[in-house]
Amino acid sequence: MQPALDEALLEVMATAAFIQGPAVGQFATELAEYLGGAHVVPCANGTDALTLALLSLQLPAGAEIIVPAFTYVATLEAAALLGLRPVLVDVRPDTFNVDPAAVQAALTPRTGAIVAVHLFGQCADLEQLRTIAQRWGVPLIEDNAQALGATFQFASGEIAFAGTVGAIGTTSFFPSKNLGALGDGGALLVRDPARAARLQQLANHGQSQKYHHEHVGLNSRLDTVQAALLRVKLRHLPAATTARQAVAARYDAALAAHGADLHLPARDPRSSHVFHQYTLRLAAPDRRDGLRHFLSRCGIPTAIYYPLPVPAQPAYAYLGYRAGQFPVAEELCGAVLSLPTHPLLTAEQQDYITECIGTFFGR
Ligand SMILES: *Cc1c(COP(=O)(O)O)cnc(C)c1O
Repeated sequence: MQPALDEALLEVMATAAFIQGPAVGQFATELAEYLGGAHVVPCANGTDALTLALLSLQLPAGAEIIVPAFTYVATLEAAALLGLRPVLVDVRPDTFNVDPAAVQAALTPRTGAIVAVHLFGQCADLEQLRTIAQRWGVPLIEDNAQALGATFQFASGEIAFAGTVGAIGTTSFFPSKNLGALGDGGALLVRDPARAARLQQLANHGQSQKYHHEHVGLNSRLDTVQAALLRVKLRHLPAATTARQAVAARYDAALAAHGADLHLPARDPRSSHVFHQYTLRLAAPDRRDGLRHFLSRCGIPTAIYYPLPVPAQPAYAYLGYRAGQFPVAEELCGAVLSLPTHPLLTAEQQDYITECIGTFFGR
């Protein structure tokens, strides 16, 4: 891949079309093709994609945005910055994805949107979420920063790519995401062409043509350099996804023996899982940090996504939530551990990781 990336970079430098160069549109078209035809509107990052999605809904100040309590903070940040009110709901203990029953219970006449997150690479329950959104006439936004390329099968037999089911999907090309740029990047995924056109304007100062501004917008364009690099990386995404899934299958097999100590990632049979993260849940949460330190001493980097539920973050104290209101999210923050999952991990490296885990649990 390296020579192709070098070539793409040199070509952008040679043409000097750094802003809105041809690679941006080409990348959008190619990603749209990969996602089965949804429109792709590139923007500067995944957080801006969420901001643009909410901005495009033209909600009244204080409208409520339903968001899972166990996610990356960016999911709420957009709502908070726009003067909308994040309403947090708990997640499911098995998939870590938002609990549709909790979403249903949080709906009020002030609800402006439901934001679902496809956490760690697996789709939230799109069947139920889509039904709830349609029944209540509330737009569903899919924060698909972690599950680009995952699919969901509905009871009707219809299969859709994550991010293309709700009114608007958002994604991120942050370097560590499944389709990572060499810097920041993001995109919106939309089926409705009129909505796509509007989002395109909002991401470029709200202009319909140069110096003609129809909306208050953002400067949130994807750099040509990143688009050119992402075109190359997109061609490798299917193989990278298969490699991540193979890494996960290998962990599943090697760690099955530790069922009493570790809950392995639950699979929703309706969703393919693209394993942005392979996240374990410890049966005894008080051993989590011990395992993490032990693995660190073995030279194995692990991560905790996420150490604090969003309602406990100081920035969101103003929402007035109290400890104990999101029991599942709170429990998960103390019990989860993500293992190395990148597509280049070798079988030998994985064997070493699972051996060290075995040593820690004394088996
Ligand atoms: C990474 C991420 C974002 C934000 O994307 P950026 O490109 O870093 O702004 C939003 N939501 C989730 C769930 C993410 O993982």
